[in-house]
Parts: sequence; structure tokens; C-alpha cells
Amino acid sequence: RLYNEIIELKGNIRVFCRCRPLSESEKANGFTSVVNFESTLENELQVISSDSSKKPFKFDHVFKPEDNQEAVFSQTKPIATSVLDGFNVCIFAYGQTGTGKTFTMEGTPEERGVNYRTLEELFRLSEERKGVMKYELNVSMLEVYNEKIRDLLVENSAQPTKKLEIKQAAEGTQEVPGLVEARVHGTEDVWELLKTGNRVRSVGSTSANELSSRSHCLLRVTVVGENLINGQKTKSHLWLVDLAGSERVGKTEAEGERLKESQFINKSLSALGDVISALASKASHIPYRNSKLTHILQSSLGGDCKTLMFVQVSPSSADLGETMCSLNFATRVR
Ligand code: ADP
Ligand code: MG
Repeated sequence: RLYNEIIELKGNIRVFCRCRPLSESEKANGFTSVVNFESTLENELQVISSDSSKKPFKFDHVFKPEDNQEAVFSQTKPIATSVLDGFNVCIFAYGQTGTGKTFTMEGTPEERGVNYRTLEELFRLSEERKGVMKYELNVSMLEVYNEKIRDLLVENSAQPTKKLEIKQAAEGTQEVPGLVEARVHGTEDVWELLKTGNRVRSVGSTSANELSSRSHCLLRVTVVGENLINGQKTKSHLWLVDLAGSERVGKTEAEGERLKESQFINKSLSALGDVISALASKASHIPYRNSKLTHILQSSLGGDCKTLMFVQVSPSSADLGETMCSLNFATRVR
């Protein structure tokens, strides 16, 4: 059956779970896998607690440790058609730091992730529709850290980039005036922009990984389409979001700056959970304004917009607590 039909049947929100492989160092340290995929039910995984009890969790799709980037993309690929058809789409990667959020979204040059592959598919489809439709693609990249928005495509290390704010545009959509929009013509352009964005992101932090786990990174693709036959125009946004790590910080390490950061992260991730579960239950009030993250995404969450969330988990016995938290979060938004 067609993906879009399935979306119709299930609503516009889909939740996928991806479990990364047990790492070499985890194995060396004697940790074992507490996540299994032996369930007879499709798209279900089981978490084995320390008392050997098994807790099942069901998703729209479950990716096992051996599933590669291509297998993951095959499930998200149809979303590219929706974007070109004028629908707004958000794809999120949620989970504890080290579970593969960046691997799923960005990937590596050898094993590219959802971001690059989706853009590649957008270019391929727009080429295919060339005789009928003309498309223009622009990319923006921004970071939300401690409820402040930073443009990641402004390369000026000497000066901190100007503060960006969310404004309501005339059409009722949310805009970020001043945000750089870079025109892209092909995947090479996109890869270069991602490199720039990551470079800007790491400026001023001791370690790129440190900071990236505490801020949300948003890639926005704006697609403007024109029907060459009837002149009709469409505009849509595709948001690709690598969320801040969902782990709870221990009481002892949570002091000063770190405490403030973790409070901002908790607040924005629960605001996101609240918005998605309100949408899923068709609530009359959707609390978009409780965080910068949900506010900025307001016009791309809900209505006929499509939402896809990857809940990333670790298989390791060392991460059991966080894995349960992430899976419970996912259950809440489904
Ligand atoms: P996060 O962004 O959630 O902090 P990363 O994407 O940085 O996590 O992943 C942590 C490590 O695990 C990286 O070295 C990454 O390459 C590896 N990894 C994550 N997911 C997978 C996977 N599905 N297959 C192989 N390696 C993975
Ligand atoms: Mg990451």
C-alpha cells in the first residue's frame, strides 16, 4: 500500500525506533544487550529488566542494530514526495547522547544519513517532474541552545552572531527574520552547508560533541514549487531536527551552567512531547508556545503536516534506565 494512504489511516504522526549496535568498548566492559527483537509481533521490541522481566514496546517501525542507513531511509523516503507536493514535514531524532541521533540524521561521508538522502531524493524527484513543475530549494541551519536561536550559516567567528527571534508572518506562519537561506542546486551544495554549519556550531565550545548534545540542531529545507502549466505555486518546509540529548543529569554534576542547560533541555523536550501528544489525541489546544523549539516549528507541526520521530536507543545494560525513559517518552507521543 502507498505510504500516503498509511499516513491517512494512522494520522500524520509516525514513530520509529532505532537501536544501535553494542559498541566494542561496551562489550569489552562486560555490558550486554538488554534490547531484543524476538517478539512475534511485528514492529515490537522488548527490554529485559534486571529482574529478567520483559517489557514490550510497539512502534510504526523498529530498526534493529544491523539495519543500515539505506534500510532506514527506505522508510522515510516517501516523505520527499510529500514535501514536493507542498506538505510541511518534521523529522526528529530523539534520545540519549550516544544512541545515534546524529548518525541517523547526518551520518558519515561513507554512510550518509536521512538529511543528505532526503535532499538527494528531493533533487531526483524535482528532476523527474521537470516538464511540469519548477522547484527552488533553500537551506537554513540553526541551533537552539538555552532557548536562544543561533544561525549556523553565518560564519563569523570573531563576533557572536546576532540573536534571532521568531515572528508571526502575515500568513500566520512562523518566521525567523534574518535567518540565512542558502540556495542549493545539488547534494554537493548541501554537504558543504552541513560542514559550514557544524564548524560554526563548534566555535566557542571545548568539544563539538559536548555542545551538540546540549543543543537542538535544525536543518530547514524550503521548497518553492511552480506548476508550469497552471502557474500555481506551493511552498513547504522540511525540518530535519537532531535534538539535544534526552538523558537526565545526575544531581552531583548538575551545577551552574550545566544545571541551567539541562533545565532548558528538559523543558523543551517535554514541550515537544506535549505538542506531539496533544496533536495525536486531537486536543483543541496545542501548547506550541512553551518552548522556542515547538514555537519555531508551529506551522510544520499539526494540521496536514507530517511528523516522523526516530527514537534512538542503546542496547547496553549500562543504559537501561535511559532506554526505558526514551521508550516511555515515545509511547506518550504515539
Ligand atoms: P548521538 O548523536 O545520539 O549522541 P551519535 O550519532 O554520535 O550519537 O552516535 C554515537 C556513536 O555510535 C558514533 O560513533 C556512531 O557512529 C555510532 N553509531 C550510532 N548508531 C549506529 C549504527 N546504527 N550503526 C553503527 N554505528 C552507530
Ligand atoms: Mg549527536
